[in-house]
Amino acid sequence: MNVALITVGDELLAGDTENTNATWLARELTDRGVAVRRVLVLPDDRAAIADAVDRYREAFDAVILTGGLGGTHDDVTMAAVADALDRPLAVDEAARADVAETVAAFRESNPELFDRYPEMGLDFDAQASIPEGARPLLNPVGLAPGCVADGVYVLPGIPEEMKATFETVADEFAGAGRSVTLHTPVPEGALAEYLADARDRFDVAVGSYPSRGEEHNRVEVSGEDPEAIDRAVAWIRERIEIVADPETGDDQVTGDAEDSG
Ligand code: ATP
Ligand code: MG
Repeated sequence: MNVALITVGDELLAGDTENTNATWLARELTDRGVAVRRVLVLPDDRAAIADAVDRYREAFDAVILTGGLGGTHDDVTMAAVADALDRPLAVDEAARADVAETVAAFRESNPELFDRYPEMGLDFDAQASIPEGARPLLNPVGLAPGCVADGVYVLPGIPEEMKATFETVADEFAGAGRSVTLHTPVPEGALAEYLADARDRFDVAVGSYPSRGEEHNRVEVSGEDPEAIDRAVAWIRERIEIVADPETGDDQVTGDAEDSG
C-alpha cells in the first residue's frame, strides 16, 4: 500500500509552524508497512489543493490531508476535496450532531466565554459540511470533523486532533513494507559502491544516512519482500564492517508492521 500526504496551511510554508503532522503520519504509516511516497505542503488555496488531490488519488492507493478544516475564512480543504471528487458539499447529520455535542460540552465548562461571545462565531452547518456521501470522521478531541471518500482522508490540522482522528481509521492502513537498520563506522564515500550494488542485486531500497561528528553511518535496507531484505543484509554484512547501534547497543533493528503493534 502506498500513500501521499498533503499538509495544508500558509503558516507551514512560511515556516511559522513546524510540519509535525507530516512527520508523525509518515512514521505511523511506515510503522504499519505502508510506503509514504509524497509529502506535499500547500497554501490555503482551494484550486491548488483540488488539483493535487485529483492527481494524487489517481497515482496512490490513498491520500491523507491535514489542516484547513472548520469555519474560518482560510479553511478551504473540504471544498477543495469536494471539487476534486466532483461532489457537492453537504451537511452530514452525524457530524453535525457531534459538533453540537462538542460545543454544548465546551459551553458548559466555559460559560463566561459564551456570555461574552454568544455563538462564538460557530456555524454548525459549515463545520459539519463534507463532500456528499463521504464517511464522516468524528473528531474525538475537538470540533472539526474529517471525512473519507474515494481513498481521500481528510484530517484536522491541530496535531492532537489529527492524531486522535487518524487513530479512528488507522486499521485501514496496512502494508508489507519492512526495513532493517544497520550501523557502520565505514565512511559514506567508501560505502557507496557496495550499497548501490546491493540495491541492484536484490529487490530492495538502500538508504545511507551519515551522522557527522559521530563515528557511524546508518544504513537502511527496505522493501516489501522479507527474504530479499535478509539476503541483501547478509550480502552487505559480508562486505562492510557492521557495528552495534552506538545508542542502543542493538546489532540490527528490524521494523515492520507486526513490530509496531
Ligand atoms: P480548526 O478547526 O481549529 O480550524 P483546522 O483543522 O482548520 O483546525 P488549521 O486551521 O489548518 O486546522 O490549523 C490549526 C492549528 O494546527 C494551527 O495552529 C496550525 O498551525 C496547526 N497545524 C496545522 N497544520 C499543521 C501541521 N501540518 N503540523 C503541525 N501543526 C499544524
Ligand atoms: Mg482552521
